[in-house]
Parts: sequence; structure tokens; C-alpha cells
Amino acid sequence: MTVTDLVSYEDALAAYDPVMGLEVHVELGTKTKMFCGCSTTLGADANSQTCPTCLGLPGSLPVVNATGVESAVKIGLALNCTIAEWCRFARKNYFYPDMPKNFQTSQYDEPIAFDGYLDVQLEDGEIFRVNIERAHMEEDTGKSTHIGGATGRIHGARHSLLDYNRAGIPLIEIVTKPIEGAGERAPEVAKAYVAELRELIKALGVSEARMEQGQMRCDVNLSLRPQGTEKFGTRSETKNVNSLRSVERAARYEIQRHAAVLSSGGTIIQETRHFHEDDGSTTSGRVKEEAEDYRYFPEPDLVPVAPSREWVEELRATLPELPRVRRNRLREEWGISAHDMQSILNAGAVDLITATVDAGADSASARKWWMGELARRANEDGVELAALPITPGQVARITALVSDGSLNDKLARQTIEGVLAGEGDPDTVVEKRGLKVVSDEGALGTAVDEAIAANAAIADKIRGGKVAAAGALVGAVMKATRGQADAARVRELILEKLGVEG
Ligand code: ADP
Ligand code: MG
Ligand code: ZN
Repeated sequence: MTVTDLVSYEDALAAYDPVMGLEVHVELGTKTKMFCGCSTTLGADANSQTCPTCLGLPGSLPVVNATGVESAVKIGLALNCTIAEWCRFARKNYFYPDMPKNFQTSQYDEPIAFDGYLDVQLEDGEIFRVNIERAHMEEDTGKSTHIGGATGRIHGARHSLLDYNRAGIPLIEIVTKPIEGAGERAPEVAKAYVAELRELIKALGVSEARMEQGQMRCDVNLSLRPQGTEKFGTRSETKNVNSLRSVERAARYEIQRHAAVLSSGGTIIQETRHFHEDDGSTTSGRVKEEAEDYRYFPEPDLVPVAPSREWVEELRATLPELPRVRRNRLREEWGISAHDMQSILNAGAVDLITATVDAGADSASARKWWMGELARRANEDGVELAALPITPGQVARITALVSDGSLNDKLARQTIEGVLAGEGDPDTVVEKRGLKVVSDEGALGTAVDEAIAANAAIADKIRGGKVAAAGALVGAVMKATRGQADAARVRELILEKLGVEG
């Protein structure tokens, strides 16, 4: 099916009601793998972080990573789930070359957390509750690289390389209950849910949840039912969608595709699909297995996990403020619009601005520099704001130098440039580059006298009452001092010397 076979979004929604299910995998940021002591550091040589356990060699025995369990409980609690008093791992059996044990250690009918919800805020401020079915622990697979094919896929490849460094890295899979009632906003809800979940995971400190690095990925299940009916339609499952924008686009595309199939009398088959970033389409993957196909059974090599109630309550007490609540609080404190807050979020600047304010800056100045000059520089260099080599403390120092009159905006920008270039702290840069505003009255007075002498005609006009002409003299003095004078003070001095009232 090609893009031209789609029904328009409006027509699709007029006839059908979408139901979604989102399955999100999060790679935990633990130092070691879920069932062995191998390192999880990214970027190491292929297969350098493996051992008999994560390679599934005979006779090796797994041991549960306690931090992995702790992270799972924290996620469960933050999602308002019940935490199981007792649960087990299960083997999910299937063969795949990147999974050397031929089963994935996962959880099946006994997840560590279940029955929760996450409230997400839509763009117009409305809160939409997404119910959570379960959050369970499992492990990641290795990574295949297919060589010789056109698109990096296995089709057409000559051979494949396998790297097991990722095999056994802890994953938490979070599965929603069917999301109903979102209507035409279903794609927006999907995106907002994944965004909120990502913020929550980061706030819990259990993962950096970088979607572009595959640390968090989302499967989008979607079905349509005729408007006014109850029974769910057959779902498709678009796998491993790895950006917020793609989650929204995949849901939207599937709504239009399902509607095209259904309205022309066809049937949707339950299958997995791949999402394509380039044109926003999905294509068929494989026909979906049923749970029975995996022959799940309890993992005999691992003891059950029984989080004590005291421990669970201890962890509950450490939960941070919910990202949505924090965002709304900061928006109020900073006195900005929802739109401005959204831009700050999109720029990844919330924590940077907060830290700059904590370091003594007022919020308006902190926002101005991070969202202005620094955002421009980050954009130019193609890096994240947080990756710029300047700290919130240094930005706060620059705002302090501006507000006590030592720097004007132009000099502050040059100071930032110096800090980014590695010339040192703001004070060092100001000192080395000689950036201080010229406030030495003697030097300023001389510069003003020179400007008056060089522009006699203008000076006469000002003496004659045309105060507005003073701008030209201010400009001359600023030029002479290479922009390092306080323009307001220069203007005062000019008028004083020419004997007119400002
Ligand atoms: P599987 O592991 O086979 O993908 P799960 O039950 O774990 O199955 O996940 C399926 C996801 O899709 C869940 O979020 C579930 O709520 C949702 N879902 C189930 N049935 C439908 C349906 N008919 N339409 C849309 N979503 C569905
Ligand atoms: Mg699934
Ligand atoms: Zn290992």
C-alpha cells in the first residue's frame, strides 16, 4: 500500500474511533547488566563486554541486579502502580541470532508493577489519563549489523555481524491499557504520553532515556472501530519508533491506513509494522505471534523477587516532584506563557535555567541567555544546549556582571564567546579580553570631549535645543570606546557638557 491509498485524516475520524496501546521499552542506566556483572558502557569494542552468562553458555547462572529491581520499583511507583509482593522472571522462548540463549529472560503473568496510570498534559492544557497495564523487567538483546544490503536491513545483505555487548542490559517494558476516548487527538496523546514518560524516567534518574540512542523506544499498537461501536478492531503494532515526532506520525498514518483498508471492505491483519522516517509511512513486518508461541515458563535459575513493603515505602519517599507538576510550578514562578514554556522544554533548557536561577540569576535573564545567544550557538554547532562548554554558574555570573553595569549585552555576548572558546571563567575572560564597560569618568569625559570637537555642527544643534541629535554623539563615543561604554551615562555627560537638560 502506498501513501496515495490513505483516507484523509478527517474522513477516517468521521467514520472510525481509534484505540491505541503503547509499549515503551526503557534501557536502565545501571553500571552492570541485569543478570551478570558485565559493563553497560556504550561505544566499547564489539563483544568486549560479554561473559558466559550473557552469552548463554552452558552451566552459567544469572544473578539479579539489585539496582535494576530498585529502578523497576521506582518506575512502578511513579506510575501509580501496585508493586507485587512477590514476582518471578519467565523465559520467553524464541530463536534469534542476536539472542544467544534462545530465550529472553522477561516477566510474564507476574510483573513487578501493575495497574497504574500517568496523567499527561495536552498542548491546550487539558489533562488526559493514560492507564497502565504493567511495568515489567527484562533484558535487551544483542545487536545485528547487516552488511551488503541497501538499507541496512537483512534483505539483500551478504552477511551479518553480531555484537552481544547490549545483550543482557536491563530493560523495563511499560505497557498501557487500551487508550480509548482520545478521538482525533489520539496521535497527540501518544506523543504526549511518551514525552511525559521520558521526563518522568529522567527525573527518577533511572535512565537518560535518549530516544535517538535507542535507550527508549515505543511500539505503537493501533486499531479502529466504527464510530458508535464498542468492540475493538484488529490492531497493528508499529515497532521501535524512536522519536516523539515519529510516535505521533506513526499513529496518524496507521489511522489513515486502517480507515482505507476497512472502508474499502478489506480486513486488517494483526501484524508488526516498520515506521519510515523519510515519508512517515509504515510497511508490513511479520504476522504477529500469539503469547502461546513463546512457550513462556517460570525461570528456574533465578529466585523470585519479593520487595518488602518497608523498602517499597522507603523508595516511595524518594520520588521526585512529577515533571508535569514541576513544569506548571516553574511556568508560574517564571511568569511565562505555555507556549514559551514549551519552547524551553523543546530546547532542553528547563534544568539549565533552573540551575542558573539557583546560582543567583533572575529567571528572566537566565531565560534570555539560554534561549537566545546560547541556543543560537548550540544550534550553530549542532549540539544540545547542555553540551555547550558553559555552566549555569558561569551564565549566572555573566548576568550578575550585566546587572551591576560591568558588562552591557554586547560585551556579555563576547564574554560568552570567550567562555565557550575555553578561555576560562567569565571574570577571566573579561579581564583577558579587556571587556569591562568603560565607567572611568575621566576616560569617558575625554571621549565625550573628543566627540563634541569632531562633530561641532551636531553639538550646536543640541545646544540649540535639538536634544534628539545627541544620539549621533553617543554613537561616536560608543564607537571610540569599542562599545565598552555605558550608553546612558555617555548621553548624560554629553548633555551636561553642552549645558542642556535631558
Ligand atoms: P503484545 O505483547 O502481543 O504486543 P500486549 O498485550 O503486551 O501484547 O500489548 C498490546 C498493547 O496493545 C497493549 O498496550 C494493549 O493495551 C493494546 N491493545 C490490545 N488490544 C488492542 C486493540 N485491539 N487495539 C489497540 N490496542 C490494543
Ligand atoms: Mg507488543
Ligand atoms: Zn555478561
